[in-house]
Amino acid sequence: MSTVTLSLDDCHSMARLALQGQGFSEDQANAIADTITAAERDGCTSHGLFRVPFYVNALGNPGTDAKAVPVLSHPAPALVRVDAATGFCPLALKVGLPALTEKAYEQGIAALAINNAYNIAALWPEVEHLAENGLVAMAFTAANAFVAPAGGTKPIYGTNPMAFAWPRGDQPPLVFDQASSVSARGEIQLHLRDGKPIPEGWAIDANGQPTTDPEAALAGAQLPFGGHKGASIALMVELLAGALIGDLFSFESTERDVQKTGAPFGGEFLLAIDPAKFGNGNLESRQAHAEQLFAAILEQPGTRLPGDRRRKARLSTRTEGITIPTALHTQLAGYRSN
Ligand code: NDP
Repeated sequence: MSTVTLSLDDCHSMARLALQGQGFSEDQANAIADTITAAERDGCTSHGLFRVPFYVNALGNPGTDAKAVPVLSHPAPALVRVDAATGFCPLALKVGLPALTEKAYEQGIAALAINNAYNIAALWPEVEHLAENGLVAMAFTAANAFVAPAGGTKPIYGTNPMAFAWPRGDQPPLVFDQASSVSARGEIQLHLRDGKPIPEGWAIDANGQPTTDPEAALAGAQLPFGGHKGASIALMVELLAGALIGDLFSFESTERDVQKTGAPFGGEFLLAIDPAKFGNGNLESRQAHAEQLFAAILEQPGTRLPGDRRRKARLSTRTEGITIPTALHTQLAGYRSN
């Protein structure tokens, strides 16, 4: 496959100009480009420049607003809400995260609901940001109906990711961010693009039979990780990011996607906890306690902490840049000049 190498600055400009060329406001395009560049920087290709066409395709749905201005409100002392106004999640997060951080410091615990947003991104950037500010953080979002419930054959749940971050003082936070399906959907789309079969156990076809064909998998249903256990996590995510904050379930997002753009629309739910506010022992001793756990894990050969792969990738992409397929580069350059 022919490829093009870009610096991270070039990556950001490419995403921003492609989006602005397709009618996104400067603020929306900048926020999305930040998210896409962070994904490329950390080697998360399936949420990098590959996603730009998904953002653009989302505009095919009636009512999608590429120039939306998110609206911040304060429903309760520890609650923040951002109405993304049928725009995109990255800008809504930019508006909501400072207020969430402030409330978590004040109240000890705070939650942020983002409503009416297209969320096509990974969740680790927002929980990592909160943990860099000393907070324990969790984030949840539903998607479109891609995943069959345990024992079922038809999609109901989204790939419903959840992310968690733990602050580590002078060290980078511990962060995990995982889909509740065996694989993220973007990974299957990348296998399809690259003409590769998917591993066994990721998906079933439209007849409910196991498949390694990415096209049949995308037409059928993805499987939750760990059978009924992953399915229950997906169910919890639907309830937190849907029913709790007054937003859509994944199957409702699919029904709303009349133009079949594949862009998930709905809510994101975030929790932030200030560990300094718990009184049992000082903060330093509790953080040192966590470090003992991490050290015990890492003593075992073959282990690593979640987030380590991303941070390693970060070290090399800053100097070596990123590589994308020439076809994607050409497509995004075309968006820019349209
Ligand atoms: P992975 O299975 O690749 O990784 C999940 C987590 O496990 C990561 O934090 C990863 O850390 C960690 N991990 C992986 N291997 C190990 C290991 N051997 N030891 C310790 N930790 C490990 O991710 P998924 O495919 O489940 O999800 C990919 C992304 O897709 C997520 O960022 C998610 O938010 C996003 N997504 C977004 C959706 C949306 O609609 N917005 C829907 C579904 C997914 P590391 O990063 O360091 O490898």
